[in-house]
Amino acid sequence: MGRSLPSFLRYAVISFFRLVYNMSGCIFCKIVNNEASASILYRDEQVTAFRDVHPAAPVHILIVPNKHIESVNNLAPEEEALAGHLFTVARQLAEQEGVAESGYRLITNTGVNGGQSVSHLHMHLLGGSHMKHPMG
Ligand code: 5GP
Ligand code: ZN
Repeated sequence: MGRSLPSFLRYAVISFFRLVYNMSGCIFCKIVNNEASASILYRDEQVTAFRDVHPAAPVHILIVPNKHIESVNNLAPEEEALAGHLFTVARQLAEQEGVAESGYRLITNTGVNGGQSVSHLHMHLLGGSHMKHPMG
């Protein structure tokens, strides 16, 4: 019990500095904070959505939380509403972009095997053409 507080504090301090270090080089944090340009389609207090710089489909939008969360692996239980909000915004954007009826694909790549190349949680919204099957 006597050792638990210092180790907790050490964990908190290391986590804080890791977060600041990761954010400082994060392109999606820069886009969220208007420090890097992007074609922004939607923004609220929780999320930002912008067009992917290398579109893989006629409609290719990224929806990201405004706060730096590395991946699904780092989502906290109290961020469940935020995770759900990514879907709500994706649905609204699909309607706005005219692909809701024809269909679209939502992808969140996670980690190395998942093909995640930007370590800031994001949801891809892909539409406007027939998606390839099978996946994987
Ligand atoms: P991931 O491979 O991590 O699932 O997806 C990252 C996506 O971010 C890729 O589709 C890539 O094209 C996109 N991307 C990387 N850097 C930038 C950037 O600076 N601006 C925009 N708009 N998209 C980016
Ligand atoms: Zn970030």
